[in-house]
Amino acid sequence: MFKKSLQNLRAYNPGPSVEEIKKMYGLSRVVKLDSNENVYGASPNVRKAITMDALLPELYPDCQDLDLRLELSRRLGPAPQQFLFGTGLDEIIVLISRAFLEPGNSIVMAWPTFYEYYCHAQIEGADTRKVPCRPDGKHDWKAMLQAIDETTKVVWICNPNNPTGTYLTKKELDQFIDSVPSNVLVVLDEAYIDFVTAEDFPNGLDYLNDYENVLVLRTFSKAYGLASFRIGYAIGSLTVINELDKVRPPFNNPRLSQVAALTALKDDSFKENCLRKNQEVMAMTTAFLKKKGIRYDESQANFIFIRVNEPKQIALICKQNGFLINPFEDGVRVTLGKMEDMKHFLKRLESAIDGTSALVSSKKE
Ligand SMILES: *Cc1c(COP(=O)(O)O)cnc(C)c1O
Repeated sequence: MFKKSLQNLRAYNPGPSVEEIKKMYGLSRVVKLDSNENVYGASPNVRKAITMDALLPELYPDCQDLDLRLELSRRLGPAPQQFLFGTGLDEIIVLISRAFLEPGNSIVMAWPTFYEYYCHAQIEGADTRKVPCRPDGKHDWKAMLQAIDETTKVVWICNPNNPTGTYLTKKELDQFIDSVPSNVLVVLDEAYIDFVTAEDFPNGLDYLNDYENVLVLRTFSKAYGLASFRIGYAIGSLTVINELDKVRPPFNNPRLSQVAALTALKDDSFKENCLRKNQEVMAMTTAFLKKKGIRYDESQANFIFIRVNEPKQIALICKQNGFLINPFEDGVRVTLGKMEDMKHFLKRLESAIDGTSALVSSKKE
């Protein structure tokens, strides 16, 4: 009955809710450090704007996100027609996969990176080439170039990378993009670009004039704290945007989401405040990890990838103690919480690491 490609996929499993976890472990508070949401919330102006809105529940929303589109164009530079909006960046990933991929095609992506690139390529029946990240968590861009062949339609670069927080420098990305054949789409997922402080970080928009095959992705879910409103967008050449727009469901951004995003976009001081706090917590966190000799990847985002043995076990212990984090094969991804939460968390993490390594060595004996 179903597409063959669904056989090996699992539906997204959000796990038990915060309320359920509180009950399960008898906790009065649970700190969510597992989804890279903005721990400082959203601009207070958003709440005002959506309550003041005319609402008009019976009408379809603006199919073009016109006000938001014009404001983004004004702030970022590309023409209004170069933008495409999705119900979160997640939907943009679906649209790209739908527009470009079919059986016989392939994508090239890093591993680990954002899972949805893999999932939707699989659904379209395309071959998924996962190129392992280097030991320091960075995309192995030279190996990724090698993995491209005549079947390749899309190459995914997550910059900074989720879950490692590492990035390709401008020099590396220049070389990479220049070496990719012009009939292969290079997607630069910049979901975390607002958090970046590195001077040699490349702005994806700078490639749009010279490369029709580059597409830049951004979202309101992370730095703007609007994950619940589901707005992300792509910026690219008219050739690419116009094809993607054929696949897009016409009214995919609710009216209130458009109002929320436009309001958040205009509140520069809220965002700058979040970024500053994020930097302070990052400095405290890396100093702690260094002092304790716990390995981590250098991150430019609002999360950090901490290399531990037994990531699942560590995440479970943290959960039992009221901290939700995300386990991967070689480590755990931790959203940078507020300063006090993060200090508590790091102590918990340290004892969880000590506990599990004692357990592992006693098993070996
Ligand atoms: C969170 C995230 C997304 C999806 O963001 P939404 O706009 O909430 O759908 C896409 N890519 C990366 C790398 C992310 O971390």
